[in-house]
Amino acid sequence: MNMLYHSTRDCSNPVTSKQAILQGIAPDGGLYVSDGLGQARVDLPSVCQEGYQATARRVLSTLLTDYTEDEIASCVAGAYGDNFDSPLVTPLSPVGKDWLLELYHGPTCAFKDVALQMLPRLMSVARGSDGRHVMIVTATSGDTGKAALAGFAGVDGCGVTVFYPEGKVSDIQHLQMVTQEGGNVAVCAIRGTFDDAQTQVKRIFADRGLAGRLAKGGVVLSSANSINVGRLAPQVTYYFSAYAQLVGTGAIVEGDEVDFVVPTGNFGDILAGYYAKRMGLPVGRLVVASNANNVLTDFITTGTYDRRREFLKTISPSMDILVSSNLERMLYYLTDGDCERVASLMADLREKGSYSIGDGLLGKLRETFDCGFADDDETRQTIRSTWEGDHRLIDPHTAVAKTVLDRIPREGRQRVCLSTANPYKFSADVLGALGGNVEGRDGFACMDALQELTGIAAPAQLSELRDKAVLHPDVCDRDQMAAFVEGACQRVFA
Ligand SMILES: *Cc1c(COP(=O)(O)O)cnc(C)c1O
Repeated sequence: MNMLYHSTRDCSNPVTSKQAILQGIAPDGGLYVSDGLGQARVDLPSVCQEGYQATARRVLSTLLTDYTEDEIASCVAGAYGDNFDSPLVTPLSPVGKDWLLELYHGPTCAFKDVALQMLPRLMSVARGSDGRHVMIVTATSGDTGKAALAGFAGVDGCGVTVFYPEGKVSDIQHLQMVTQEGGNVAVCAIRGTFDDAQTQVKRIFADRGLAGRLAKGGVVLSSANSINVGRLAPQVTYYFSAYAQLVGTGAIVEGDEVDFVVPTGNFGDILAGYYAKRMGLPVGRLVVASNANNVLTDFITTGTYDRRREFLKTISPSMDILVSSNLERMLYYLTDGDCERVASLMADLREKGSYSIGDGLLGKLRETFDCGFADDDETRQTIRSTWEGDHRLIDPHTAVAKTVLDRIPREGRQRVCLSTANPYKFSADVLGALGGNVEGRDGFACMDALQELTGIAAPAQLSELRDKAVLHPDVCDRDQMAAFVEGACQRVFA
């Protein structure tokens, strides 16, 4: 079956998955979705017998039907090899009576690697022999930036520009980005929040004047944010892999339903779980876990999405988001593909700062989704109790999800908590949560103290950062971002 994609806001103008991946976002600002989702199923018995790479091939070829089998196979072989430090790629391990799905074994120690080791390969294939250059422009709340830099550095015909909110990412995340090497990368801090950066990046994509100028130099812009189908699709794989591992341990038998609790920001990770369900994975509930920026908890409780609230800086910065972009895809599927309705909800969000979906749709949403949130104090307590009780060291994002998981009643199903970052990315906050002294200590001093306290080694790619030179000191205002991108294109593709 051939899956075609179109905008969530306009059901005409279908494109192939290669075109959708190259463009990133639809020209009208909507996200690419396919009405074929759910028509082709992934064969569960096979998934339960095979390894990560085989499952990835199966999932990707179901969603990205215009890639040939060979193309998918070579992308998968390149993306999920020894760049992950576990042969399982995303190993599952027990925590109390539940499970952690460890998504942080890639080169930058965050779950974003699972998708961003794959996206550049999908994009290179999609570019084919077309002579145009692709500049990836990405706003990051901390983890996407480094994962995109690591994925795209040195990729032929591609460049990558990353914007992150100044002072709102951890020390280690900051160093991971500003020390990135490579002739095709650009990194800039912006004065503002992640939402400011993301909104401005969306405007840059919609800027026809800029697109015209870049086209003259043979350059097109694209996105590595989770609005890109090429990022979403690879994330579906690990839900299937988690399930296969549960079957492998004997915790479930094939066909049993499993619940997933997901630390959520932009709604990309959990949406992949919904895709997995539609593709035949026996998913019980999908639980959206938020930090104190609990706009999604309110939405799933009341049916009203309201971004008009104070933005809070938390110890789980990758979830400090008030506009969860991928929710738009969920609205599309929730309304059974009503593009006009989605377009009007998104117009309400833009113009009034809020929208409501009504009781009917809310009821439908809640058939699958549940929600909860944890503030910083609760998150710290969970880091501590999980270390003291289960001898598992978890990062603040994972701890948000674990807090929510511990609070909801067990309904007789196995429960998987998605673990999205290595705790050493957030050494200071994790050390502080364990009662260690963080006063006057920088990220590396905290890393050392945390290693001493727990006996768990920090990953080399994080501890080595202390010896690296800062290569990207730039800071700009929101209205200078477009010019920064244009400059980066000129430099990278000169
Ligand atoms: C990006 C990120 C999240 C949130 O994932 P979304 O797909 O944006 O919902 C959670 N935890 C960590 C560590 C992340 O980097």
